[in-house]
Amino acid sequence: MLFVFTLIWLAQEPRNYSSIEEKSARPNVLIILTDDQGWGDLGSQGAEGLTTPHLDQMAAEGVRFTHFRVPVAVCTPSRAALLTGRHPMRQGLGRRVIFPFSEHGLPASEVTLAEILRPAGYRTGLVGKWHLGHARSEFHPLEQGFQFWFGVPYSNDMDDHFYKHNGHQAPPLPLWRNREVIEMGPEQRFLTKRFTDEAIRWIEQGGDEPWFLFLAHVMPHRPISVSWEFAGKMPLGLYGDVIHEIDDSVGRLLTKIEEIGQREDTIVIFTSDNGPWHRPSSGPLRGHKNTTFEGGHRVPCVMRWPAVLPAGEVWNTPTSTLDLLPTLATLCGVTHPMGATPDGKAQPISLDGRDLAAWWRGGSSPEVSSFPYYKNERLHAVSWGRWKLRLREESGEILESPELFALQAEDGTPLDVSEAEDLSENHPELVGRLRKEAEAWRTELGEVD
Ligand code: MG
Repeated sequence: MLFVFTLIWLAQEPRNYSSIEEKSARPNVLIILTDDQGWGDLGSQGAEGLTTPHLDQMAAEGVRFTHFRVPVAVCTPSRAALLTGRHPMRQGLGRRVIFPFSEHGLPASEVTLAEILRPAGYRTGLVGKWHLGHARSEFHPLEQGFQFWFGVPYSNDMDDHFYKHNGHQAPPLPLWRNREVIEMGPEQRFLTKRFTDEAIRWIEQGGDEPWFLFLAHVMPHRPISVSWEFAGKMPLGLYGDVIHEIDDSVGRLLTKIEEIGQREDTIVIFTSDNGPWHRPSSGPLRGHKNTTFEGGHRVPCVMRWPAVLPAGEVWNTPTSTLDLLPTLATLCGVTHPMGATPDGKAQPISLDGRDLAAWWRGGSSPEVSSFPYYKNERLHAVSWGRWKLRLREESGEILESPELFALQAEDGTPLDVSEAEDLSENHPELVGRLRKEAEAWRTELGEVD
């Protein structure tokens, strides 16, 4: 059965939370998203030539998710999915990414995590890359639930050096503070540090209310660069230095959260928007960014929430960025303000993610589910539990005979993550089962040929 479900979340008046009991039920949420960081770029996942001591420590104090995926393996659709819990095919964002001259963006009707936390009294901030539209004011992060933004509207290569369209040169990369462009073409080697400084300042400025901060680094999306103090430190070279500086940023944020006494009540999630582009750092996984192999869709994911999540566990259960919004909504005790239709009535909203709050709180792992791998608005592959069925070549051409891979062994441990051994001939019944899942996703989300 297809695990898409429909929730009707009724609009609710903002509530007044004051007691400590209520506050502990409303954890802070910090999501740190890197750009094009490969699954293998974590010390705890076998990185070579670079170290990530703070992320390794965070994994030791929390949970490392080894089978955590994004629904489309490029920047724009991946971010849309993370912030809305809905598949980008529903949002007109299933194809490629937003460019400096693009006219489209995340529709105003979509409801972001910031938009559901804000009415419940959360402070909301975005530091770093947005990439969900900039051509019209309705696409601005401050119109999508965030109260603060310091960052850039799209990727760091979409500037006057690299990007041309119909003979027009893109402007230097703009750096925004809230609704103002404060710099054009900021020195990129300092962006990881500047974003971290801003994030820490924003956290410090808060009062008693809980907060949600989305810190979306531009690194290690190319062109990569690093602050002076991190240059030349890692054996791997510049790429290693860049990841090491990101790791240092994580360490600074965790230290700050500890200093202000919010360690227990802060959910920290570290992940990446898609697989690697700059170099082959997918570890044992096949493929990279913008492929529908695991190396494109499966990303590093470490979560820490001392009050609830266990310490030092590795969870292999398949999950995805789509699950974050429904799960965090439950954990933060908020309801969806999807009453803001033109006629003021609540309306149903189809979420593609699953609410995994009970699992996080110590319940049994979620039921087996299916997951679609889309590229350029075409369904390339589908997984069901530990199995993955590939239906198309990377080029988009339909495979005459779909290929079946066992991503995990029966006990859930990783198996053929390099998608090397096609088992379709041995398991025709499974091929049929996964074909049905694929058909259901196509019916639900569509496909454009
Ligand atoms: Mg990216």
